[in-house]
Amino acid sequence: MDGRLDGGPRSAVVVGAGVVGLSTAWFLQERGVEVTVVDRTGVAAGASWGNAGWIAPGLAIPLNEPAVLRYGLRSLFDPAAPLHIPLTADPGLWSFLTRFASHCRWSSWTRAAQANIPLNEECVEAYDVLTANGVEAPTVDAPITALFTSAVSAQSLLRELERLAAAGQPVDHTRLSTTDLREQVPLASSVLTAGVRVDGQRFVDPGGFVRALGRAVLARGGAVRSLEVTGVEPENAGVAVRSKDGEILRADVAVLATGAWLPGLAARAGVRTPVRAGRGYSFTVPVREPVRGPVYLPEVRVACTPYRDGLRVAGTMEFRAPDAPLDEARVDAIIASARPLLDGVRWEERTDVWVGPRPVTPDGRALIGETRIPGLYVAGGHGMWGLAQGPVTGRLLAEQITTGKQPAALRAFDPLR
Ligand SMILES: Cc1cc2nc3c(=O)[nH]c(=O)nc-3n(C[C@H](O)[C@H](O)[C@H](O)COP(=O)(O)OP(=O)(O)OC[C@H]3O[C@@H](n4cnc5c(N)ncnc54)[C@H](O)[C@@H]3O)c2cc1C
Repeated sequence: MDGRLDGGPRSAVVVGAGVVGLSTAWFLQERGVEVTVVDRTGVAAGASWGNAGWIAPGLAIPLNEPAVLRYGLRSLFDPAAPLHIPLTADPGLWSFLTRFASHCRWSSWTRAAQANIPLNEECVEAYDVLTANGVEAPTVDAPITALFTSAVSAQSLLRELERLAAAGQPVDHTRLSTTDLREQVPLASSVLTAGVRVDGQRFVDPGGFVRALGRAVLARGGAVRSLEVTGVEPENAGVAVRSKDGEILRADVAVLATGAWLPGLAARAGVRTPVRAGRGYSFTVPVREPVRGPVYLPEVRVACTPYRDGLRVAGTMEFRAPDAPLDEARVDAIIASARPLLDGVRWEERTDVWVGPRPVTPDGRALIGETRIPGLYVAGGHGMWGLAQGPVTGRLLAEQITTGKQPAALRAFDPLR
């Protein structure tokens, strides 16, 4: 509890053992802070387990572009659409969607894209720091191949990449002819006739990685415990973290990294930007032959990644409560949309069917930094790209916590904005 002689914190409680919380814990340890990570369920229990595993700075494109509004309206009346917004009377959801809609402008999109540049530029390096220093889980270099049914459809991704370049983040990519795309992705069916290869990306088994990160935090002397946190209050020069069963953990600082569950705890600390669960589904299927790298099917909004001996297929953005049960109809909708596009996939033999909540903010920017309660920080709200940006987030936030200075890269993510 006593501050260090240099004024930095000596101890931290990190709430949430997903990629963001554990990365923050690891980089705090790197700076000499003793950490206890607590999670209500366990390591990688939230969105960090079944996601697509892309460390894809080249495709970390903000969601809030103007076309999303038209798309969202059309989806309201199509139960099989990749975007699902239940027509329920949840006022919190409608207020969130209204705020999200108000950010579907090019000015907000550009702001989010530019804010993300430092995270995108350093996300791969932050992974390398972890894997070079005891996190035993490989990341794999591979291009991501986006496949389309026509050259016209491919234009939408090419335009997005041009806009990203205009915002300051050029992305190395190549158009693929029909022959090239089939060579790159032998499972591509004959209806796919255009492709774009996005180079310089990586992928990982996300659950395996986050578990290895948890083991590394333990091996460096940290603690990882099961505890559901109900509140954090200032106490003396530090913070008191309260759990559901009445236990209190005391430390110099605490970090809320509870993903889509962030709002309950963070709102009490003055964080007004809401976070909602944009739930995605995934499952693993056996395939005729190994797939070399991630495959993106933008027309049906499905992401596929080599996983163990098969393919992990991920898709859907469903705005429901983070803990709502899995809806099989969404899995069926993903299969119905992707089946005509890929050959040699044994859809009926799927395993690991999973749903997890992407932590989505209305302005396309994560929430990273100190709250109104001194010594209480938040790290979350990375939406579609929290796996890629988790380690770099942890690295930058650990710097802010231990030096007391907000790194320039985190200014746009100030949680009190
Ligand atoms: C289908 C799908 C595909 C995706 N694909 C990609 C991808 O390819 N690349 C990419 O970069 N991102 C991807 N994402 C997004 C990415 O998964 C998330 O942004 C990221 O995992 C968020 O990590 P997190 O640590 O913030 O949250 P989480 O992993 O959700 O962790 C939050 C943790 O907090 C715990 N918790 C909650 N409340 C409490 C409490 N009160 N007390 C204690 N613990 C609590 C939970 O149990 C959970 O373990 C995808 C997401 C989905 C759903």
